[in-house]
Amino acid sequence: MTKIEEEDDRTGIERISGKSVVLTEDSPFLFPFDPWPIQLAFMTRLQLSLKMLKHRPLILTVSASLFSLYEGLSLGKVMIMESPTGTGKSLSLLCGSLKWLHDFHRKLEVEEYAKCVPNEPGVSNSGADEPSWVLEHERKVALRELEYAAERKRKRAQRLEELRQAEKENGWRQTLKRPKNHHGNDEEEDPQEFLVNEYESEPEASGKRGDLVDNPTDSDDPQDERDELKIIYCSRTHSQISQFIKEMQKTAYQTVKSVSLGSRQTMCINDSVKQLKSVSRMNDKCLDLIKGASKEGGSYCPYRSKDQQKRALFTDHIHAVIRDIEEIVETGKRQDTCPYFGSRDAVRTSQKTARESVGITVKGNIVIIDEAHNLIDAITSVHSVSLDSRQLNRSDAQLQSYLQKYKSRLKGKTLAYIRQLLLLIKALQRALRPLTSEERAQSYIRRTNDFVHDLDIDHINLFKIERYLANSGLAQKLQGFAERTEDPKVAADTEDTDFMPKHVSPLKPVEAFLMSLTNPDLEGRIVVNISEADSSASNLKYLLLNPANCFRSIVEDARAVVLAGGTMEPVQDLLHEFFQLFPYLPTDRISRFTCGHIIPPTSLLTTIVANGPNQIDFDFTFEKRNDGKLIDELGGAIANFCNVTPGGVVCFFASYDYLDVVYNRWQMGRILSRINSKKQVFKEPKQSVLVDTTLTAYAQCIRNTSNLQGHTGAILFAVVGGKMSEGINFSDDLGRLVIMVGLPFPNIRSPELKEKLNYVKARASLRGSDCAVANDYYENLCMKAVNQSIGRAIRHKDDYAAIVLLDHRYGQQRIKQKLPGWIRDAGIREPGGFGRAIAEVSKFFRGIKPGC
Ligand code: SF4
Repeated sequence: MTKIEEEDDRTGIERISGKSVVLTEDSPFLFPFDPWPIQLAFMTRLQLSLKMLKHRPLILTVSASLFSLYEGLSLGKVMIMESPTGTGKSLSLLCGSLKWLHDFHRKLEVEEYAKCVPNEPGVSNSGADEPSWVLEHERKVALRELEYAAERKRKRAQRLEELRQAEKENGWRQTLKRPKNHHGNDEEEDPQEFLVNEYESEPEASGKRGDLVDNPTDSDDPQDERDELKIIYCSRTHSQISQFIKEMQKTAYQTVKSVSLGSRQTMCINDSVKQLKSVSRMNDKCLDLIKGASKEGGSYCPYRSKDQQKRALFTDHIHAVIRDIEEIVETGKRQDTCPYFGSRDAVRTSQKTARESVGITVKGNIVIIDEAHNLIDAITSVHSVSLDSRQLNRSDAQLQSYLQKYKSRLKGKTLAYIRQLLLLIKALQRALRPLTSEERAQSYIRRTNDFVHDLDIDHINLFKIERYLANSGLAQKLQGFAERTEDPKVAADTEDTDFMPKHVSPLKPVEAFLMSLTNPDLEGRIVVNISEADSSASNLKYLLLNPANCFRSIVEDARAVVLAGGTMEPVQDLLHEFFQLFPYLPTDRISRFTCGHIIPPTSLLTTIVANGPNQIDFDFTFEKRNDGKLIDELGGAIANFCNVTPGGVVCFFASYDYLDVVYNRWQMGRILSRINSKKQVFKEPKQSVLVDTTLTAYAQCIRNTSNLQGHTGAILFAVVGGKMSEGINFSDDLGRLVIMVGLPFPNIRSPELKEKLNYVKARASLRGSDCAVANDYYENLCMKAVNQSIGRAIRHKDDYAAIVLLDHRYGQQRIKQKLPGWIRDAGIREPGGFGRAIAEVSKFFRGIKPGC
C-alpha cells in the first residue's frame, strides 16, 4: 500500500512515497516522478491554484471549457491535444490513458457484479414480468460466469507474475527456451505456385476483402479470454514507437498487457522466407506456407505452430513485460514461435497496442495518434495515387505474358477478369497519349466521373474488379511470375528512383488507381500530366480533396480518438466549417486542449522584424523577394544577429530555389564572408544522404568554437518543409536563434493547390459563405510549416532561444493568431526598428538565466 505523506486541501493534490501524485479522484494517477503542473492538466481537468503556480513558474492555458485526456476518454470525445516538445507529452498520454483504462475495467467489474445482486424485496427491475425463480436463476448463471471469468483472469495474472519474477531472478533470455535449429522449408519453388486462385464472384459475399489472407486469430483463443478494450497508439515511425515503449517502461503501469506490431519484413524468423528480397514475395510465400499446412503433404512454416499451449506460452511471455518489437522477435526465435502471427494473436488479449494498422480493429477501442499535426497531409497522401506510363506499360506486358502462359489452365471467370483488367490498362495508357496538338505537353484536371466517361470505361463495374483483385492476390502472383520469367534487363531498365522497385508488382499502383476511381465524384480529381519530351514521365494522379470520409470509419468506430502533437496550430484545418476533418460530428463531441510550455516566459524571445539595417522593408512576397537590394539587406540583418547570438543559428528559407538565389548573391558579394567571419556557414544539402554529415559537422563546429572570441558557433541555412524542418532537435546551443525569412506560402500556381482552393471556395459558396475561407486555408498551410520549423528550438525545461520573424506581414493580427499558443502566451515583440530588434536580442542573451 502506498502511504499518503502530504496533503494540500487547497490544491487537491496529495503526495505518495515522494514519487506518485494523487488527485482528488478515488485512485491515483501513477507517474514515474512528480509531474509538472501542465502534465497534470493534460491528464486531468485539474484547476491549478495560484499557490501551486507560484512554486513552478509556467505558462498555462487551462480553462473550464477545455477537456483533459481523462475526461475526454470517459465521454468518448475526439480530442485535439497540443503539448510542446519537451513537456513530457508521451508520459502524460500514457499515464492519463492507462489510468483511465484501469478505472474503466474496475467500474465495469463493479457494474457487472451489481447486476447479479438480488433486488430488495418489492423493488422491481427491467425483468419484472418474469417469474422470480427465472430471474433468480439468470442471476445465478451470470454470477457463475463472472466468477469463472474472474478466476481465469486471476490465474493468468498469477502466471504472468511468475514469469515476471523468473525474468527478474534469472534474466529475460534465460526464461525463454533455446531455439532448435530450424531452417524453414527449402523445397524448390514450383511455377504452379504463380497460378492465380480461382475466384467465384457469385455469391460475392463469400468473403470479405483479404479473405485469402490467413487470419490465424480466428482460431480458438488460447487464453479463452474475452476481448478487452484496447488503446491503439499510432505514430509515424518505428523509432518513435520504440521511444514510446521506453517511456511506457518507466511508468508504474508495468502489468498492463501491451503488444508492438511490425511487418513480416521485421518479424519473420523463417530463413527461407526472410532471404526473399521482395516484401510481396515474402508475404506470398508465408501465406502459401500457411495454406499449405492445411493440405496433406503440403509445405508449412515450422514456426506457425497449431499447438495452442505453445501459442499461449508465447502470448504470456509478450504480456508479462512491456516489450519492443526487437524483444518480441527474440522471444519468437527462442521459443520457435512466429513473432509476426504470435504478436497478432496476443493483440486480442492486450490492452495497449503500438502500431497503426494490420490486424487490429478499432471498433470500441481508444485510438491515440501521436505527431498528428500532419494528419490531414498523411491521409491525403495515402489516398492520393500516382501511376506513370512505365508502370502501365509493364503491367500490360506482364499481364499479357501471364495470360499467354496460363490461358489454358484458367477458368472462365478468371479469364474474363484478367481481360477486363487489360482493357482498363489500355484505356489508361490512352489517357497519357495526346491525340491533338492542343493536348500535347499539357496537364489538365478532370472530375473522376468525367475521366471515366472520357475513357469509355464507365460500363465496367470497378467495384467488382476491386473485389476480384483484393481476393485473388493476382498482383502478387503476377509479380512472382514476372520475377521468374521477365528479362532482367527489362526489369532493371524500369527501376530507378522515380519508378517502383522491381520487386513490387506494377499492378499494385494500377489497382490503387482503379480503386480511387470508385471514390465519390466530389471528393477527388484526376490530374493528367503529359510530358512531350519524355513520354515515360507522363503520369496520372488521383488527388484527394476531402480527407474527412477516409478518416470517418475510425472516428465512428472508435470509442474515443486523441490527436496529439507538439504544435497543432493552426488547427482550423481540423475544425473549420469548410475544410474540417469531422464535418459529421456534433461540435460537443470534439474537444481541444492546449497546454503551455514548461519554460518560463523569460527563456523565450519572439520578435517580428519588419525592416533591415538600412530601413528597407522586409517584404518577401513572391514578386519582390528576388530584388537584389532586399537580399543584401537580409544578409546585413543576419550578419548583425549573428554578432549578438551565442552558439548556433538556424535560418529557414521558403524553398531550396530561393535559398540558392540568396546564397549565390551573397557569395558573389562580401556578405557571406562577413557572416562566416562570425559563424561558420552550413547549408542544408538537397540529397538526403548528406543530411547527417552536415548536421554532425554543424554540431561539432558549435561545440568546438562556442567559447572562443570572435568566431563563435555556426549558422545553418535550411529550408521550410525540407529535411531539417521536422523531426530534428536543435536544442540548447544547436539553436539559440531561429530566423524565419518571409512567409513560406506554397506555390499558388500548382494545379493541385489551385484545385484544392477551388474546392474549398465551392464548399463555402454552396453554404452561402464568404470565399475568403480559401485564403484562410492557404495561410494555414503556410503557418503550419512556419510553426513546425520554429518549434525546432526549445526542447526541454532549461532550454532558451530567440525566434526572429523577418517579414512585416508577421505583424498582421491574423498571422500572429496562427503562431503556437505557447509563443503567443510568452509575448511577441514588435520593436519597431531594426536597431531596437538587435538591442532586444542582445539584451535577451546577456540577461538569460536558464530555467528562472
Ligand atoms: S509464419 Fe511467421 S515465421 Fe513463418 S513464414 Fe510466416 S511470418 Fe515467417
